[in-house]
Amino acid sequence: MEKVLVVGAGFMGSGIAQVSAQAGYEVHLMDIQAAITDRALKQIQWSVEKLAAKGLLTEPPQKVLARISPEKDLSRASEADWIIEAALEEEEVKRGIFRDLDRISRPGTPLATNTSSIPVSRLAKNTLRPERVLGLHFFGPVPMMRLVEVVKGEKTSTEIFERGAAFVQSLGKTPVRVQRDVPGFVMNRIFSVAFREAVDLVEHGIATPEDIDVGMRLGYGWNVGPFEVADNAGLDTFARVGQTMKALGADDLAPKSNLVERMVAEGRLGRKNGKGFYRYSPEGKRLPWEKK
Ligand code: NAD
Repeated sequence: MEKVLVVGAGFMGSGIAQVSAQAGYEVHLMDIQAAITDRALKQIQWSVEKLAAKGLLTEPPQKVLARISPEKDLSRASEADWIIEAALEEEEVKRGIFRDLDRISRPGTPLATNTSSIPVSRLAKNTLRPERVLGLHFFGPVPMMRLVEVVKGEKTSTEIFERGAAFVQSLGKTPVRVQRDVPGFVMNRIFSVAFREAVDLVEHGIATPEDIDVGMRLGYGWNVGPFEVADNAGLDTFARVGQTMKALGADDLAPKSNLVERMVAEGRLGRKNGKGFYRYSPEGKRLPWEKK
C-alpha cells in the first residue's frame, strides 16, 4: 500500500487525508498538536459515515478510518511515497516544513504544497531538489470538490508534474495543469477578480452579500456565490491569500477595501466559527447576513 503524508490537519489537510484513505492509500496525518489531529479524525469519521449512509462509499467507514494515523512530527516523511503540505498559509511556516521534509524524506518522493498563493518555486528553494516540488491545489471541501490544480514550479520536472496529475486522478479527482507558477495560479486569479469586485460593491452599500450570491447563482450558474465560497474557505485564510497576492505585486487581484481583514479582526472567520459574511446555526445551517 502506498503511503501519503499530509502535513497540516486543518480544513484542507483533513479533507486530503480523507480522500487519500478512500482511494486506498495508507495515510499519516500530521499537525503540531494532538488536539488538532483528534478533531480532524472526528471530522473525517463524520464525513465518511455520511458518505456511507448515502451509499457513496465502496467499503465500511471503519476500513477507511483504519488507514489514517495521526502524527505529531514529520518522521513518517522517511517512508512516504507522496507528501502533501497543507499547513497554515504563512511562508515562514511552510519554508521550515519544506526544509525538514527535504532532509527527512527519500530523494525521489514528490513534495507537494497545497498553498493558494505562495509561489511553488519559492518554497522549492528551501529544498536541495526543487525538481520534485510541485503544487497540488485542492479545492474545499476536498471530499466534495473534484478539481485539483497541478502546478509546475520553475524547476519542477516534467516527470513529477505528470506524476502529480496521475496521483490526482488516483484520488478520483480531475487535474487541471498550470504550466507556469504565477500568483494565484489559474482558478484563484479568475475567482479573485469576481471576489474583489463583489467585496467593493458590498463595501459601497450597492448590494448585500446575499443578493450578490443569489445573483451569481441564478445569473451565471455558479453553484455557490463568492461570499459563500469565502465563508466556506475561512476568512482568515482569504485575508492571508489577499495579502500574499498584494506582496507579489498582483494588487489588481485583491479587494481594494480591507473589509475581510476587519471581519477577521472582529473574530468573524466564516463557517468554521459560525460567523462570517453569514451566520451559521450550531448545526451548520446558514442564516442571513446582518450588517453591523
Ligand atoms: P487551517 O487553518 O484550517 O489549517 C492549517 C493547519 O496547519 C492548522 O491545523 C495548523 O495547526 C497547521 N500548522 C501550522 N503550523 C504547522 C506546522 N509547522 N506543521 C504542521 N501543521 C502546521 O487552513 P486550511 O484552510 O486547511 O489551509 C491550509 C492550506 O491550504 C493553506 O496553504 C491554504 O492556503 C490552502 N488552501 C486552502 C483552501 C481553503 O478553502 N481553505 C483551499 C485551497 C488551498
